[in-house]
Amino acid sequence: MTRHQSRPVREIRINPIVPSESVLVSTARGMRPRKAEQPVARDRRQQVATCPFCRGNEHMTPPTLYAWPDEKDWAIRIVENLFPVLADDRSEGALNLGLQQVIDGYGRHEVIIDHWNHGIALHEMSEAHLQALAQTYRDRMRFLLERDPRIKYVMVFKNFGPAAGASIAHTHSQIIAMPVVPENVINEAEHSRIHYRKFGRCIFCALIDEALTFEATIYDRESGEVRRRIHVGQYVIERGERFLAIKPFASRFEWEIHILPSRHQADFLQASDEDLADFARVLRRAMARLDHVIGGAQYNFFLHTQPRGEDYADCQPSYHWHLEICPRTSIPTGFELGSGLYVSTVSPEEAAERLRAVQIDP
Ligand SMILES: [Zn+2]
Ligand SMILES: [Zn+2]
Ligand SMILES: [Zn+2]
Repeated sequence: MTRHQSRPVREIRINPIVPSESVLVSTARGMRPRKAEQPVARDRRQQVATCPFCRGNEHMTPPTLYAWPDEKDWAIRIVENLFPVLADDRSEGALNLGLQQVIDGYGRHEVIIDHWNHGIALHEMSEAHLQALAQTYRDRMRFLLERDPRIKYVMVFKNFGPAAGASIAHTHSQIIAMPVVPENVINEAEHSRIHYRKFGRCIFCALIDEALTFEATIYDRESGEVRRRIHVGQYVIERGERFLAIKPFASRFEWEIHILPSRHQADFLQASDEDLADFARVLRRAMARLDHVIGGAQYNFFLHTQPRGEDYADCQPSYHWHLEICPRTSIPTGFELGSGLYVSTVSPEEAAERLRAVQIDP
């Protein structure tokens, strides 16, 4: 038993990067505003005759846009989404209806079939495969950005499990090329730019340094009792040669993990193949830890990278790309939707400790 478990945590934590986002960490019994998400049995079949994403059923999807290693024996395949949320068949541009602004839903929406194996989980894929997948993300992102100047951002994300919104069980990711930079990325880019102007440092790099070196003990003013002890590396889940997986101090989701390059890199497109080999290793190991602790994780993940365009050209020294992994173990309630305050019933310190304690294969 560690000290922080002996005393329930009840505090509001401010996200250091985007201060308007805060989290209520409340581990006290009874503080359960969330309903637990029912774990679902994982579909472990390798091949499903009726699945449009399985090999041999290529005719059930729109045509192949890209295949790796080759179209016949593909292990990764990109197709257009059958029901795109954005598509490039329109070009009317922006509309202004009084206060209500409309930007035409111009863009691309593609599906990346992550693996030929229908039911494989991310942590079960080989590191070589995960590296190829990350390279596919990077190269497709570059392709979509370069082919059309109207595209302002390309979002890569993955929904795994019905609780995370995946409508097709076969493992897949999605890529959406958008005519706007999404709000969450704008917030991160602007706040980190402000931090850079003030302190001359990337805030993500500063947080990494803190995670690797910071140590503190906070005492209760009245009783003199230890209120909080922060150990070196307490928030580090996985440390690779070039990447770190960390548990954010202000985590919106109980088991949320972020993966980021340990040395400054603003743009995901700057990541080399060697970088992505280490990224794949850190990702696989972090996902294996998650799977072990929460058993069959349903999750969303998404990549945040430096946005393109004049408005963000100066973000090179201040922005730092990362992958946010958000496991879905409970359903947000009216309190969270109404307040914008996420509630976490497991303290990030305890979550980090449990994730770190998992023994995984090297
Ligand atoms: Zn399938
Ligand atoms: Zn940085
Ligand atoms: Zn982010």
